Amino acid sequence: MAYYDRLDEHGLAVLDYVRARRHDFHRHPELSWCEFRTTAVLCRELAQMGFSVRWGRPLWGELRPHNLPPREQLDAAFAAARAELGEGDPYLAEMAGGFTGLVAELDCGGGPHQAFRFDIDALPVQESGGCDHSPCGAGFASVVDGRMHACGHDGHMAVGLGLARLLAEHKAALKGRFTLLFQPAEEVAGGGVHFARLPQLQGADRLYSVHVGIVDRPVLVCDATWIAGSVFEVVFRGRPAHAGNNPHYGRNALLAACQAVTALYGIARHGGGASRVNVGAMHADNPNNIICDEARLRFEVRGADNGIRDYMAQRARQVIEGAAAMQEVTVEITPLTRFENHPNHPALAAWIKEQALAFGLGAGDIQDSYQVPASEDATFMTRAVNEGGGQACHLLFGCPVVGGHHNSRFDIPDPLLAWGSSFYFHLARQALACWGSDQFKV
Ligand SMILES: [Zn+2]
Repeated sequence: MAYYDRLDEHGLAVLDYVRARRHDFHRHPELSWCEFRTTAVLCRELAQMGFSVRWGRPLWGELRPHNLPPREQLDAAFAAARAELGEGDPYLAEMAGGFTGLVAELDCGGGPHQAFRFDIDALPVQESGGCDHSPCGAGFASVVDGRMHACGHDGHMAVGLGLARLLAEHKAALKGRFTLLFQPAEEVAGGGVHFARLPQLQGADRLYSVHVGIVDRPVLVCDATWIAGSVFEVVFRGRPAHAGNNPHYGRNALLAACQAVTALYGIARHGGGASRVNVGAMHADNPNNIICDEARLRFEVRGADNGIRDYMAQRARQVIEGAAAMQEVTVEITPLTRFENHPNHPALAAWIKEQALAFGLGAGDIQDSYQVPASEDATFMTRAVNEGGGQACHLLFGCPVVGGHHNSRFDIPDPLLAWGSSFYFHLARQALACWGSDQFKV
């Protein structure tokens, strides 16, 4: 029996609620920076429980979202949310333009400041209609064509709401401040960069972040780290010319782009750790009889740490500029976004393991650490808290992952989410029990 199938009283108490919320979010996936309905629903639920909620422009203050989708896509998503929630929705107006996400706080007076981070965006994936795909069979498949919660962020939100409910119901017995950060646009390394700077996170004593799935087996990972990455857009600009009459007058941007792509995959790998490179898009659109004067690429590099990522990015820049020089075209390389690698607080990770054993997990249900060969923008928040004198840790609620992440058949078990709410509640209370002693600052 998987660890998450053994629910305690708190897990059982929130199971139906958590399942219903996850299914609702799963039916209504929204892409990065377009999480308008999602944010409004979260605000409503958390306000009803007695949390003080901040969202939209007042939350964002001077901060501005970056790497936004095209304006038409943002406006269409906003209009769809307003059509569903109605003109009178109290939350939507402040989010126009991509100011999504929210922070909910419960202040029980005195005590430490404990923060929990959840990401909320979905992916441009067409959900499987297969009858062996449980969201179809159980009637909660995505109602939006070409969009799906295919990474489990619907589950993360459900964990957060289940935790919120347990905290609110036990408020009289609790101390300190609880801050739940529902961060937008993780898939484009967006929200984490900005939420790391929010005043609501400053001075936090502890920050917990989590991802469900990932390891594809039922284990709790107490210390999960992520690799670093950078995403770039490249534009080559040449000179058009008649392809038959005088090709020698032209400067071929498409040829430079092609040479850059093959050279990027040929970058010598760093001996210090894993690295990755991938070109996801190449675009040029000319008639066959004209030497191409503009070509675009979008690519990413990754590295086991920030230094290896920077090595890959620097070599990529040299290779691209070399390809441009060969064809005598100009090139513009624009960084779109960046993921960091940042270590968890080691003592907090060890404390979480102790607490998991006390919560009823066996040694076989726990994996001490894992470096995920993917990236996460929660690392910006981890760094902010660790460098601010607090303790931050990223966990994995591991489980078998049907179909794999970012796949049309992706699925996770609902009991895992209720287990997660209850485990987080356990961590929150155990932290209070040792607040003020050496054990708190483990
Ligand atoms: Zn994810």
